Amino acid sequence: MRKILVILALVAVFLFVAFIATYTSILQTEKNDSKIIVVVTIPPQAEFVEKIGGDKVKVIVMVPPQASPHVYEPTPSQLKEVSKAKLYAKVGSGIEFERVWLNKILSLNKKMLVVDCSKGVKTIEKNGHVDPHIWLSPKNAKIMVENIAQGLIEVDPKNREYYEKNKEEYIRELDALDKKIAQMLSKKKNRKILVYHPSWTYFARDYGLEQISIEENGKEPTPQYLMSVIKEAKDSNITTIFVSPQFNIKNAEIIAKEINAKIEVVDPLARNYTANMLKVAKSFAKALK
Ligand code: ZN
Repeated sequence: MRKILVILALVAVFLFVAFIATYTSILQTEKNDSKIIVVVTIPPQAEFVEKIGGDKVKVIVMVPPQASPHVYEPTPSQLKEVSKAKLYAKVGSGIEFERVWLNKILSLNKKMLVVDCSKGVKTIEKNGHVDPHIWLSPKNAKIMVENIAQGLIEVDPKNREYYEKNKEEYIRELDALDKKIAQMLSKKKNRKILVYHPSWTYFARDYGLEQISIEENGKEPTPQYLMSVIKEAKDSNITTIFVSPQFNIKNAEIIAKEINAKIEVVDPLARNYTANMLKVAKSFAKALK
C-alpha cells in the first residue's frame, strides 16, 4: 500500500513538472510570435529600433556586419524572413542596397509598412549625388529615430506610450553623445581627417572637420588624384589614415608608406551605435592631436 502511494506521488510530481514545462514553453513561443518584426538595412538601425521597441520587437538586419551596403546582395533565406515583417525602416538616402533591392523586397511582403528614416534629414550633395551616410551624425540619428518611432506606433498603436517613453530616453542619450563628441573635438587645431572611404561627411559637417578621402568620389582613385591626396596629407601634417572594415585597404597602405602614417580602423556600420560613435570620436580626437 505504501509503495503504491509513493509511486502515485512520484507520478503526480512528474505530471506536474511536465505540465509546467509545457505551459511555460507555450507561453514563450506565444511571446516570440507576438513580437513585431522590423526589417532594417544596416546594423546601426538595429540599435535605433531596439532602443524604441524594447522587448516588443524583433529586428532583422539585411546587410550583415562586415558587408558593404554599397554592394551586398540578400540571400534567399533573408528574403523569406522578410515576409513575416510588419515594418521596413529604410535608410532612404539612396544607399545602393536599397536602390537595387528594396522594390523586390517589398513585392515579397505587400502588407509591410515602409518608413523612410531620412525624412527631414538635411542631406549633402556632391557631384549631383546625395551622400548616403546620413546615420553617422547623432543629430541625423535623432531624426531617424523619430521616423522609426512613428512607424512602430502606426503598426502597433496600443503600445504607443511605451514606444514614446523609450524614444524620449534614447533621444536624450543621443543628445548627450552629440555634446560629448563636440567637446572632444572642439579644441583641436588640426581639422583634417584622412579616410579611405568617405563615410564621415555628416560627422565632419556637425563637428567642423574636413574629410579628405582616398577614394575619388566613392571610386578607386586615379594616380593623379592619389598624388594630390599625398601632397595635402604631407602639407597638413596628417599622420593617421582611417579605414573601415568593409573595404580593401591596399591604396591606404600605399599612402601610409608614402607619408609615414599609421592605419586605424573605424567602423561606420557597427550595431552598438552610441558606444561606437564615441569610440570613433576618440580615435579622431587622438589623430587631430
Ligand atoms: Zn559607404
